[in-house]
Amino acid sequence: MSRLGFISRETALLAEQGLLINIRTVSSAQGPWFDVDGKRVLNLCSNNYLGFANDPRLKSAAREALERYGVGPGAVRTIAGTMTPHVDLERSLAEFKETEDSIFLQSGFVANQAVIPALVGPDDVIFSDELNHASIIDGCRLSGARTVRYAHNDVCSLEDAVKTTPGRRRLVVTDGVFSMDGDIAPLDDIMTVADRYDLITVVDDAHGEGVLGRGGRGIVNHFGLTGRFDVEIGTLSKAFGVVGGYAAGSRETINWFKQKARPFLFSTGLSPADVAASMAAVRVLQESDELVKRLWDNAAYFKENMRALGYDTGMSRTPITPVMIGDASKSSELSRRLFAEGVFAQSIGYPTVARGKARIRAMISAAHSREDLDYGLERFAKAGRDLGVI
Ligand SMILES: *Cc1c(COP(=O)(O)O)cnc(C)c1O
Repeated sequence: MSRLGFISRETALLAEQGLLINIRTVSSAQGPWFDVDGKRVLNLCSNNYLGFANDPRLKSAAREALERYGVGPGAVRTIAGTMTPHVDLERSLAEFKETEDSIFLQSGFVANQAVIPALVGPDDVIFSDELNHASIIDGCRLSGARTVRYAHNDVCSLEDAVKTTPGRRRLVVTDGVFSMDGDIAPLDDIMTVADRYDLITVVDDAHGEGVLGRGGRGIVNHFGLTGRFDVEIGTLSKAFGVVGGYAAGSRETINWFKQKARPFLFSTGLSPADVAASMAAVRVLQESDELVKRLWDNAAYFKENMRALGYDTGMSRTPITPVMIGDASKSSELSRRLFAEGVFAQSIGYPTVARGKARIRAMISAAHSREDLDYGLERFAKAGRDLGVI
């Protein structure tokens, strides 16, 4: 047996369980419609909430930066790779999030690896929601701190864990919006517990910024807790439509990350064009809340009509629309039939969600027109009836 024999054995096992990931190729720009595996389909699965991924204002900002600054930053941020666009973006993100400062990183995933180990270490304790994103889980592991999971969105479970687990420094971390159900963390209650027990507070707002709060300022703004959370983590790849991650907080905290965060110290930052495009997205949001309003209108319209068709759209309090099917093979089959009819909406099953809770996750955007949504609804109606799930 070869040394890598385990790979073919394990791959066969994944295939048997229907868990092999099939990666489709998109051959057009991201938008309400796009070309997937050679077929034009309605896009109900991207995180491009506001349609920024192909926005002419962002593209022109990227083009300008490309001409002026070239394609690559040349070095890590701490040596010679911090260019004017990086600094400008950090200032605008801080302004947008109403914090003192921010640090721009390569991705939302990396932001969690950067921030959590800079705050806690082996003598410390992290309290982490059991459904937190993989990048938070990995950030916790990397820190070497003892990690205690509390029941999802359950502040009593959090408080019980805090009461019984001492540590040098203690930190609570949660997703703001949970991306599989679209439910949101009770940040106000978490803050109360954090104040009572003196916990460091970190929230990952990846699906909240550009969506929740005044003009899309995110979940902290939504709860009226501006300035109260120690660190807000975010991504530029979802509502902002580009790529990159960041952390926002006090000047002192952000400066600490610039001294200590390993992905900042040892990995090159993003290109000036990416950064300039993100900056343009922030500017558009600062000037108008029109896109955010349209996103919520579209989501309300879609959810309401899906429910009228007899679908269960779960507990979502955000534009994320889970279409609960239950059985994983039925859910995949519905997704396959929708695709054949020109609608791309991904089926999500175990292990991303619990067994028996398979669903189609429909992602609605501000860029969808009413006709687009009606097209999707009609196909959901037909495919759902044919399959007997509504
Ligand atoms: C998507 C997501 C990330 C990762 O963001 P990227 O910029 O794509 O790396 C991190 N945290 C949460 C909660 C997310 O939903």
